[in-house]
Amino acid sequence: MNLASIITQKAEETPTKLALENEDVRITYEQLERTINQTTHLFRQRGVVEGDRILLQLGNSLEFVYCYFAAVKCGAIIVPINPTYTAAAEITHIAFDSQPVLFVVDAAASENVQAVRENSDNLIDVILVDAQSSDNALLRAIQSLPTHCDPGVVDDERVCQILYTSGTTGKPKGAMLTHKGLRTNAMTYKDILHCSSDDYCLISSPLYHAASQTNCMLTMLVAGGTSYILPKYSTDKVLTLLEDKKVTFYFIPPSVVAMLLNHPRINERTLYLRIAFTGSAPMPVELLDRWKAVSGVELIEGYGLTECSPIVTSHRPEGKKKPGSIGTALPRVSVVIRDNEGKEMPSYEKGELTVKGPNVMKGYWKNEVATANTIRDVWLYTGDIAYQDDEGYLYIVDRKKDLVIRGGMNIYPREIEEVLYTHPDILEASVIGSPDPIMGEVVHAYFSTKDSSVTLTTDMLQRHCRPMLAPYKIPAYFTQLDELPKTTSGKILKPALRELVTRK
Ligand code: ATP
Repeated sequence: MNLASIITQKAEETPTKLALENEDVRITYEQLERTINQTTHLFRQRGVVEGDRILLQLGNSLEFVYCYFAAVKCGAIIVPINPTYTAAAEITHIAFDSQPVLFVVDAAASENVQAVRENSDNLIDVILVDAQSSDNALLRAIQSLPTHCDPGVVDDERVCQILYTSGTTGKPKGAMLTHKGLRTNAMTYKDILHCSSDDYCLISSPLYHAASQTNCMLTMLVAGGTSYILPKYSTDKVLTLLEDKKVTFYFIPPSVVAMLLNHPRINERTLYLRIAFTGSAPMPVELLDRWKAVSGVELIEGYGLTECSPIVTSHRPEGKKKPGSIGTALPRVSVVIRDNEGKEMPSYEKGELTVKGPNVMKGYWKNEVATANTIRDVWLYTGDIAYQDDEGYLYIVDRKKDLVIRGGMNIYPREIEEVLYTHPDILEASVIGSPDPIMGEVVHAYFSTKDSSVTLTTDMLQRHCRPMLAPYKIPAYFTQLDELPKTTSGKILKPALRELVTRK
């Protein structure tokens, strides 16, 4: 079974059910299957064969879905990348590393074609798509092609896509994800959140990223539900769609929760949400509580990483919710907290979170050293420090790499960030270590305010922290920014903050 069989099955069972829509187009499962088949013919005509890589640089669009599943049917390996990546650094690295035969790119990013040509010796063709137009080059090219085709390669264990990590901790590495890993992750997620064909999902986070791809797009398709694909995130538009489309299923990364809560019209909207879920970055408890008070819907927090297709743990809608926890392991996924020697830690003791299960990647593409460092004895070492309580609920303490060591004392930035989020004027906060000649490192907090005309001083913020933090954890420096630097998937970019420190 390959991943595209999800659509074939739904096209047979519920052909007229609405599968996808955007502002201009609505397409049923049958139409989706046909368009994917036509796109598969196009890719094959252009010379794509099994095992080839197809570099996909498309924004959120129906075309993304067509190309994704057409690549699957060709037996090719999809390499979806951030639509905002530019030739300067990221494209060059990824094109060289993945050596694609085909580059499918949005017209808006066409300046990257040259870099892909120069860096991939395998490149045989480029398809320019103006995904924002319903009369685009891709749709014109497939128009007269057959709407039926064979199911394609049928080996579940094969690599289906190379998903480059978001690069928040260094150069992106290509995680090799299998058909089985992605399919089982989406099916399990559908099962634990009780998704059905009655669900309506709004996809406003970027589809090239694992969370939107598996937990929204694939989960809705296996459930036979409908997804609205929003090309570009806007808080205003999201609020309108949540109400107008009676959205029942929505992924809200922490940065979006902050933006929605800060919107002046959040209280005027009627929400129909059945499941609002979050993850992909630390979710401050303060925001969880405020979201529930304002929306009336509990946020379901989960945890995942690209290398695990991506979901590893989640709360369950009917289960106990523990604020600050990432829930419990998914069925058929095992999680063990280990010390530096790989020994299992008892409950409540902090160590590295390791994962085993069908969702774990095969390894990093062409990077045996990184693979051997990350997968040891079939366990994937996540680089996240966590602990487990006696009911199996897991808590992320922080990333190993983000730990601040001040005069030999370990400080977890997340603990300080949680305290800063309780300040009534703070919109977002992120804490890093800043080099110090005496202490080695000291704590440096960056923040933005809900109302940009409000200025908070170091003295005011240190006073806010004092009742809640030991003195050595209280940031020595506070820097107010208009907005914190983020990835397009909404994660705060600590490396960009570290650069600000070194430029200081
Ligand atoms: P790179 O690997 O390039 O540095 P990245 O780690 O941000 O990028 P992703 O796979 O997008 O790449 O993110 C996975 C990481 O996100 C996890 O390892 C963890 O640190 C963080 N994360 C995900 N969900 C949560 C959560 N609920 N709470 C805290 N952290 C989370």
